[in-house]
Amino acid sequence: DFSLDASQSSEDHTIEHHLRPQLLSEFQGQEGIKDNLSIFIQATRKRGEALDHLFLSGPPGLGKTTLAGIVAQELGVEFRVTSAPVLDKPKDLAGMLTTLEDGAVFFIDEIHRLKPVIEEMLYIAMEDGELDWVIGQGPAARNVRIPLPSFTLVGATTKAGKVASPLYSRFGIDIRIELYSPTELSSVIRRSSGILQVEIEQDAIDFIAQCSRGTPRIANRILRRMRDFADVLGSGVITRDVVAQGLKRLKIDSLGLEHQDREILRSIIHHYRGGPVGAETLAISIGESVDTLEDFHEPYLIQQGFLMRTPRGRTVTHRAYNHLGLEMPEKRPA
Ligand code: ADP
Repeated sequence: DFSLDASQSSEDHTIEHHLRPQLLSEFQGQEGIKDNLSIFIQATRKRGEALDHLFLSGPPGLGKTTLAGIVAQELGVEFRVTSAPVLDKPKDLAGMLTTLEDGAVFFIDEIHRLKPVIEEMLYIAMEDGELDWVIGQGPAARNVRIPLPSFTLVGATTKAGKVASPLYSRFGIDIRIELYSPTELSSVIRRSSGILQVEIEQDAIDFIAQCSRGTPRIANRILRRMRDFADVLGSGVITRDVVAQGLKRLKIDSLGLEHQDREILRSIIHHYRGGPVGAETLAISIGESVDTLEDFHEPYLIQQGFLMRTPRGRTVTHRAYNHLGLEMPEKRPA
């Protein structure tokens, strides 16, 4: 089954790597973010110091890893990548920190999932540039401080709200990436078509952009599927017609909603009278994890005005009833 889930699958990994921008000038859209980053990078180069620690938040597939890699490339320093769940023991983090090249960009994905003991080590490393290490055991145990190479920590997360405030406050630069506009996604698709050497009509580019839920990773994924359809069922050129038929086959509607998005809205309407319903309950009723619901499905449904997050839970809007062709009840019983 085709899923638009923007999390990374290994199958897509190679091609994604191929499409990944290496320089700021290749990164499409997000002009405000690029302008600021470009200034910070220039200032850092001028001073010859490491860049301030950088916090990147936003839904999956919007370019957080890509941006971190670009920063390293533009600064001409090492790019080291890891993810919080991999950092299980203090020695896992220590091993990485002590072997960084001077000035390196150290990327930790899913930074909201760090264990407290690792998080504390990281505070000290970020602030003092030292490793706090315990030698020995029991009463003989003592702490030593080991100087570390200078580095820039880039912490990425889909859940900015779940990052402990002592950690969050140690980042000097805070960048929140929002969903892309259709125009921005059109530039992503145009660039990727060039790299993949596929022939695609402007109309088709705009159509895919409209249905990619504001997410470059999804735009690229749909582009590749459309190339398959064009190669096998058409003349090899991606036309508007190929996209229209292809999206139908993938069960993606004109606003980019996939089957599971519509199920979420339907479930709230049919089982919870339009809401409010708590995230845990909703996740169970659609057979998804709360993380997938919150990180992947909700941002787009909210942005499109189908869903609202309230303190008491999720509620669907008038627009959701309309989109599904359902009648909105006059007054909901309390
Ligand atoms: P995240 O780390 O936020 O989940 P990634 O950085 O892995 O997202 O980006 C996913 C893919 O989308 C990348 O492989 C890259 O090809 C593409 N991409 C993301 N942002 C952009 C952009 N602004 N311009 C062009 N391609 C992009």
